Amino acid sequence: MASRSKHVKPENQRILRGEVLARERVSPHMLRVTVGGGELADEFTPRGWDQWFRLFVPRPGQDVLHLPGSVTLRGYARFLAMPDSRRALLRNYTVRAARPGEIDIDLVAHGDVTATTPSAAGWAARCEVGSPVALLDEGVGWAGDGTHDWTLVVADESGLPAALGVLASLPADARGLALLEVPTPEDSQPVVGPAGVEVRWLARDDHDAVPGVLALRTVVAATLPAGRPYAFVVGEQALAAGVRRHLVARGVDKRDITFCGYWRHGARPAR
Ligand SMILES: Cc1cc2nc3c(=O)[nH]c(=O)nc-3n(C[C@H](O)[C@H](O)[C@H](O)COP(=O)(O)OP(=O)(O)OC[C@H]3O[C@@H](n4cnc5c(N)ncnc54)[C@H](O)[C@@H]3O)c2cc1C
Repeated sequence: MASRSKHVKPENQRILRGEVLARERVSPHMLRVTVGGGELADEFTPRGWDQWFRLFVPRPGQDVLHLPGSVTLRGYARFLAMPDSRRALLRNYTVRAARPGEIDIDLVAHGDVTATTPSAAGWAARCEVGSPVALLDEGVGWAGDGTHDWTLVVADESGLPAALGVLASLPADARGLALLEVPTPEDSQPVVGPAGVEVRWLARDDHDAVPGVLALRTVVAATLPAGRPYAFVVGEQALAAGVRRHLVARGVDKRDITFCGYWRHGARPAR
C-alpha cells in the first residue's frame, strides 16, 4: 500500500528526461510504453494512487525533444509560442506501474493512427526503444483521507491506470465498488486491491458508443451502499461531470468527490 492518501503535488517540479525502454500492446485498445533511463531513472519518485504527469514526446519526424526551458508560466508561454512543428507534443498520463529505474505508461489506442498523426496515441503506436521522452511529475489527485465508510471508483479506459493505481493503494480493509468501463471484455486487466472493493468491468462492445456513457448509466442505476462515500471519478468529461452531478443530487458532499474530465469526446485534437 502506498504511504500517502492526501493530495500531493511535488514541491520542486522539474522536467526529467529519459527514453523508451519497451513497447507492447496489453489489450486490444491499450498500449504500454515503458520509459526510464537518464534523469527519469535517477530522480523520479513513485507516489502510488493516481499519480499523473505531463508527458513530452516527439512529434512525427522529430528525433530531438524541444522542451520548456522552465516550468514557470513564462517558460510554458515560450514553449507554446514555438511553432508546432518544433516543440514536443505534450499530454497528461498516469503512472501505471513503477519499478526501480522504469515506469509503465498505459495509453488508450484511440482513433485511426497513421505515421504522421501528431497524438500521444500515435506516438505509442510507433515509438522505438531509445527514442526520447520527458516527464513532469504532477503528483496525486486522490484526496481521500481514510475517514469514509466506503469508496466509489468510476473510470473509462483512459482512467483505467488511475483507477487500478487507486485500488492497489487502498488499505486492505477498504470497502466499496469500482465500475471500470472498457471497449471490449478483452480490455479488462488483472486487479490488485482490497477484497472488500467489488470490481465490475463494463464492456461497451459497441465501436460507435461514446466512452463513459455506459459507466454513467450504471452508476445512476446502481443501488449504492449506505454510509459516507469517497468517490473518485475520471475519464471522458461527461462521465466525470455526470457522476458528480448524480452523487451530489443523492446527497454526497462535494468535498467527498474527486472528479476529473481526462478528455472530451468530439474535441479538436490539442496542439
Ligand atoms: C490527469 C490525467 C491523467 C490521464 N491519464 C491517462 C492514462 O494513463 N492513459 C490514457 O490513455 N489517457 C490518460 N489521460 C487522457 C489523455 O491525456 C487524453 O486522452 C489525451 O487527449 C490523449 O492524447 P492524444 O494525443 O492521444 O489525443 P488528442 O490529440 O488529445 O485528441 C485527438 C482526438 O481524440 C479524442 N480522444 C482523446 N482521448 C481519447 C480517448 N481516450 N478515447 C477516445 N478518443 C479520445 C479527442 O477527443 C480528439 O478528438 C489522462 C488525462 C489526465 C488529465
